[in-house]
Amino acid sequence: MRAVDLIRKKRDSGELSREEINFLVSGYTRGEIPDYQMAAWLMAAWIRGLNRAEIAALTEVMLHSGEVVNHSEIPGKKVDKHSTGGIGDKTSLILAPIVAAGGLTVPMISGRGLGHTGGTLDKLEAIPGFNVNLSLEEFRRVLRKCGMALIGQTAEVAPADKKIYALRDVTSTVENIGLICASIMSKKLAEGIDALVLDVKTGSGAFMKKEEDAIRLAEVMVETGKSMGKKVVALITGMDQPLGRMAGHSNEVVESIEVLKGGGPGDLRDLSLDLSAWMFFLGERTKSVEEGRHLAETMIATGQALEKFRQGIQLQGGDERVIDEPERLPTARLHAQVLSSASGFVASTNCEQFGIALAMLGGGREKKEDHIDHAVGLEFHKRIGDRVEKGEPLATIHYNSDAKLAEAKKRIADSYHIGQEAPREKHALVRRLIGA
Ligand code: URA
Repeated sequence: MRAVDLIRKKRDSGELSREEINFLVSGYTRGEIPDYQMAAWLMAAWIRGLNRAEIAALTEVMLHSGEVVNHSEIPGKKVDKHSTGGIGDKTSLILAPIVAAGGLTVPMISGRGLGHTGGTLDKLEAIPGFNVNLSLEEFRRVLRKCGMALIGQTAEVAPADKKIYALRDVTSTVENIGLICASIMSKKLAEGIDALVLDVKTGSGAFMKKEEDAIRLAEVMVETGKSMGKKVVALITGMDQPLGRMAGHSNEVVESIEVLKGGGPGDLRDLSLDLSAWMFFLGERTKSVEEGRHLAETMIATGQALEKFRQGIQLQGGDERVIDEPERLPTARLHAQVLSSASGFVASTNCEQFGIALAMLGGGREKKEDHIDHAVGLEFHKRIGDRVEKGEPLATIHYNSDAKLAEAKKRIADSYHIGQEAPREKHALVRRLIGA
């Protein structure tokens, strides 16, 4: 078999067999197939699409590119959540401690920033000393001690996704149902869980801009998970504007801590509680989702979730003092405001552009080897439906280098669409449930 033939086959809309997909993925993971051939195949797959059989084969081959973790020595149910990605989406940092404090085990294997969206691992690395590169043995040790651990793919767990994910990030091959399903489900099914809650985003800041595409992606992922004997539900949630007020790394950690302390923005708090509620329910900790929500609220109100987060940071080598002293996180030297050029109401936002502006300022990657400046961030002052006056700040940029500041500022300003009337329709953040 030759990679070039498989690229041609997909380019010409052919269907790849399981053996052919295995040849490509295994060869690439071992370093025998170069980046440029895998990138060409990914682009062909992006354009031509993958059918259900190809998606199932790709997921399985990526899942078995490493070890499927067995946590049977840890008592109780293991549950996780995964989001398809957005701007300001930091719910993992909030719900992992809530659910672990509530008695379930959360073995979370996460990704880095992808395309215009942020990644949990990058956010956690804003905490000085926090190590996301634990070995499997260390992962288990942390899980046994505190019930939660957040790590990246290792050489042992879903290594194929680690490599392919980094390549897709910089070759514009992210927004494809088959590739997203295989990426998410391979690493999630490898982490040894009983149940999974999926947060499938839709809207201008999501990979799936149209709700019907988000629904299709959710259905494929739920079906894949169930076929492997897991309990899976997907919540279709809105990403028409950033989640919470902050996007970036240090500032998202700060906002997550605010929610764990009982404050924070309402949308972020609500979604974190909803996702936690489903995790409690699927993990059989509660008899209903409502009871799950009540338990999640109690974990915040009693301070148990915050203490769990403190313990988790400490066990992964991080400086847990950031919880009470946020100035210990990397902080930007400079601030600039983005002002509204008109009076009216925020009618909509082009949310994806916020992520692109953030990356441009150093808060994301444009090439695989780029380093992230964790101090860079955006703070959003206006939400859809808010009244705004000409000259009023829409957002504040936290930055260290002004090389691309003017361009970033313009992108952000242009991404707020100001109308003369308040938008009539108000969309719920949770739009639908799939697989419940
Ligand atoms: N999150 C992932 O882990 N993979 C994708 O492909 C998209 C979002």
